[in-house]
Amino acid sequence: MNGEALNLPKNGQVQNVKGNVMIPIRVVMEELGFDVDWEKRTRTVTIKQSDTTIKLVVNQASATVNGKKLALGAAPILKEDTTLVPLRFVSEQMGLTVGWDNATKTVYLITPDHGSGNGNGIEGNTGNTGSDNGSPGNGSGIPVPEQQNLAGVKGIGFDANRLIIAVDKNVTPDVFHLTGPDRIVIDIPNARFDESFSSNHSLDAFQAGFMDINDYPDVTKIRYSQFSDNPSTIRIVMDLSGARNYSLLNANDGYVIIDLNVDQSYPSKGSGKPLVVIDAGHGGTDPGAISVTKKKEKDLNLSIVKKVEALLKKETQLDYVLTRSTDVYVTLQDRAKLANNLNADVFVSIHANSGSATASGVETYYTRQESVPFANVMHKYLVKSSGLSDRKVRAKSLHVTRETTMPAVLLEVGYLSNKSDEALLYTEKFQNSVAQGVVDGIKEYLGLK
Ligand SMILES: [Zn+2]
Repeated sequence: MNGEALNLPKNGQVQNVKGNVMIPIRVVMEELGFDVDWEKRTRTVTIKQSDTTIKLVVNQASATVNGKKLALGAAPILKEDTTLVPLRFVSEQMGLTVGWDNATKTVYLITPDHGSGNGNGIEGNTGNTGSDNGSPGNGSGIPVPEQQNLAGVKGIGFDANRLIIAVDKNVTPDVFHLTGPDRIVIDIPNARFDESFSSNHSLDAFQAGFMDINDYPDVTKIRYSQFSDNPSTIRIVMDLSGARNYSLLNANDGYVIIDLNVDQSYPSKGSGKPLVVIDAGHGGTDPGAISVTKKKEKDLNLSIVKKVEALLKKETQLDYVLTRSTDVYVTLQDRAKLANNLNADVFVSIHANSGSATASGVETYYTRQESVPFANVMHKYLVKSSGLSDRKVRAKSLHVTRETTMPAVLLEVGYLSNKSDEALLYTEKFQNSVAQGVVDGIKEYLGLK
């Protein structure tokens, strides 16, 4: 349940009766946590939780749920002094999501309140193996409640160890890690595949499919399926090459993002070292400014950031995180949120400007007053390391400098609309120098030099 193995009592094993998984009422009570009443005379089991009451009678193939009669795939049975009830029926009526892996005969239960988080769900070997895509079916004749206002999953993308799920409504995904083999499961309740999904992704007759991942060694495959109809749930599974930490970013901005924290590049603040977030502006579908010779700003920004990274790697007194390390689109919200969630000490965004053909030089932008001392230090090094004219420290309401909660600056390292600036900006020498200036500025501000 929620990725953890339930400890079933010795005489309380789950049993498979004619294709229906049956569970002792004692387990329903002790492990699932529902109230259970047993009336011996009428051999009636009453299971209650919040506003749902299920009544089941031994050997009777129907049950009542809040007074409404529903068919059962299998009647409850009395066996060795304990009553067994159909697990799927009871769980689903109580709002749990039920998955069934036919290969390993494993039932997965997910509670609706199971919080999403940083992999705290599952540790150790739960004995879960095989496919998570097994269609759970609905052979019990239970009427599926009408599902309205379902969120549409529009697409799935994976790049730079970042899984992005595009949705058309706010969703509350449930993310957890399973072992044997290692994988990260993302369940999106109250969701379905949007029509646009199938235009970019293959979906088979069972509303399932997968993408092979070849470029990133940590992930082998991403699978997706309509995992449950009741409630309608989309399941996405990242098959991993080993155990990996992850973080969930769900800003309710149309994207659910799962970042794999590989190479421990997402250090926790527990290390006691200052944490620096470096942000390469734009990326992916967002090219940023286009230079006079038709080069893209996003590539320049990333190139400089990679050089900053190489320098920061050698610094033992601080930790750093990049908002992107490849040519991938990241929303402004996620850039700020990443830094805020990590409780970073400083945030530096690298950009290049565009304007008139004669405009030339460097600028440092900030939004919040508390960023001014940091902006002043960073600008001093930017002017020196770029060798370009000083266009001053400037206040401006920019998303990443406004929405972050630590000293944050946005550096414009030159003008792509200016012929001579542009020619200089794309040289290794300039980029190495500016990268060194960025690192020197950060170190001075943090008192590390
Ligand atoms: Zn830019």
